[in-house]
Amino acid sequence: MAAPTPSELDAAYGPAELARLRAQGLATNKEIRRFKVAVNTACPLRCDYCFIDKDSGEVISWDHVTGLVRFMLSSPGKVKKLLLYGGEPFLNFELVRAISLYARAEALKAGKDLDLSICTSAALPLKREWLEFLRDQRFFLSVSIDGDAAAHDAHRRDKKDAGSWTRMQPNISLILDVIGRRRAMAIQCVHPDNVERMLDNYKTLVGLGFENIEIEVIHGFGWKDKKSLFRPMMSQVLAWVWGETLQGRRRFVVCSLVPLMLKEAVVLEDWCPFHSSMETYPDGGFSFYPFAFVDGEGRARSRVGGAAEGVPERWRDCTFDLNSDRCRNCTSDYYRNPAVNEGNDPYKWRTEMARAFMDRVALAARDEPAMKEYLKEALIRCRIS
Ligand code: SF4
Repeated sequence: MAAPTPSELDAAYGPAELARLRAQGLATNKEIRRFKVAVNTACPLRCDYCFIDKDSGEVISWDHVTGLVRFMLSSPGKVKKLLLYGGEPFLNFELVRAISLYARAEALKAGKDLDLSICTSAALPLKREWLEFLRDQRFFLSVSIDGDAAAHDAHRRDKKDAGSWTRMQPNISLILDVIGRRRAMAIQCVHPDNVERMLDNYKTLVGLGFENIEIEVIHGFGWKDKKSLFRPMMSQVLAWVWGETLQGRRRFVVCSLVPLMLKEAVVLEDWCPFHSSMETYPDGGFSFYPFAFVDGEGRARSRVGGAAEGVPERWRDCTFDLNSDRCRNCTSDYYRNPAVNEGNDPYKWRTEMARAFMDRVALAARDEPAMKEYLKEALIRCRIS
């Protein structure tokens, strides 16, 4: 890829152009570290905790792609992470390919480090050639999987109501082979139904070959009665990972947040929704996490501008100040769904506990060689690019 000339850089991301775009809400003064994009809505599965309308046939337009990539890259901060989701993004792989090449070229112009990541249900046959392209583009690849066959098939079923665990297995082998264990990740979806088995399911995923396992909390399903189980179970997982680490075996939890946990930006990540919670639906509409758990009506009410019209006035000029009422109340009138909010506490506990775990690792790393190695590896593999 040829390096852009200084005048090309100025025209695309120079101060004058940025000021012009910011005035329209098409660029932002706030750091965006992570931006999640649902490229399509179609999916071979009908998981009962996903509210995306899989039959709507929506695919993100190229204008929206260019708008959102430039919106993210023009924001302050050196490191950017673009996460491609669906639906099932592998159903539109040529679009994934085009987005990756465009985003890489724009990152070069903007002078940013870009991490690319893609998430799949691995329920359709994945082609080696697709994975080789992703490997060459230094992608991180996440597979949504709940645990063993019983836990997974309880919720992750197809149109004919068949579970998807068995058909994923050849894909998982291929992913580990081509993408490699450092860049492949399992997203372990913890549901109130399977929370008691969190450690068993974690170990099942390790047994499949995953070393990076992100504990994800499913929102909106009867957490009230099972909430009290979440912390003890998460503690079990972290205690087991600690023991494995002392044996020189590397397993990583909540990998995507490790760099933020260990370094800067924890306050920003917690408070300013622009930092880590920006998402785009295929219609180009921006929102804050968690769009996949919000139905169509919720989507309309949680829209925060979009790639075409820019962000609304109220979010154009604000700058982060934790002591300001403006920031403290930033999302107080944002769309709230009581059912979705049920998962908020486990989600918050997950992040807090993983962060405390990484703090403990960092402390132990001063004297313990195995922890030092773990820390070093966490920063390499979780930072990605
Ligand atoms: S009001 Fe504060 S927290 Fe909200 S978007 Fe603006 S800077 Fe971020």
